Amino acid sequence: MGLCERLLSLNSYKIFIIHIVFMCIFCKIINGELPSYKVYEDENNLAFLDIAPVNPGHTLVVPKKHYENMEKIPAADLQSLILAVKKVGRLLKEKLGVPGYNISVNNDPIAGQIVPHLHFHIMPRRPGDGYELWKQGEYKEGEAEEIINKLLS
Ligand code: 5GP
Ligand code: ZN
Repeated sequence: MGLCERLLSLNSYKIFIIHIVFMCIFCKIINGELPSYKVYEDENNLAFLDIAPVNPGHTLVVPKKHYENMEKIPAADLQSLILAVKKVGRLLKEKLGVPGYNISVNNDPIAGQIVPHLHFHIMPRRPGDGYELWKQGEYKEGEAEEIINKLLS
């Protein structure tokens, strides 16, 4: 039996189980199948507290439609998403009284993306919170030229 025939032969209980096990965790939060602490919502986007915060108030902002990463999301939805990020940032500043925040996207697994549904992290910053930024290095002889030549070719 082929895969299609096998899928067609499954009863609704099995389809429900497959759905629960395999569907994206953020899609489940968006659909209300999993709970979350909602921070902000509009027609296209949802923001909720990260379950394992870097800092108290660490918020994830996600498009309601499932896009894996920055390359997959169409321009109009990205525009809406970044405006939602801006609103949530302002909300964190105003309501939590934090003086600033970091915005971060782990784009693809190599960059640390664990949940394959595009999301912006907004991490409130407080004086002395111990949050560490990335380590910086320096270019070797000729390396910057090599990079820029590739980028501009
Ligand atoms: P990534 O590494 O993909 O950029 O970040 C995924 C984030 O999602 C992590 O910071 C993680 O703590 C958060 N996360 C994973 N599962 C859940 C969940 O079920 N609920 C919430 N609120 N956050 C989650
Ligand atoms: Zn999803």
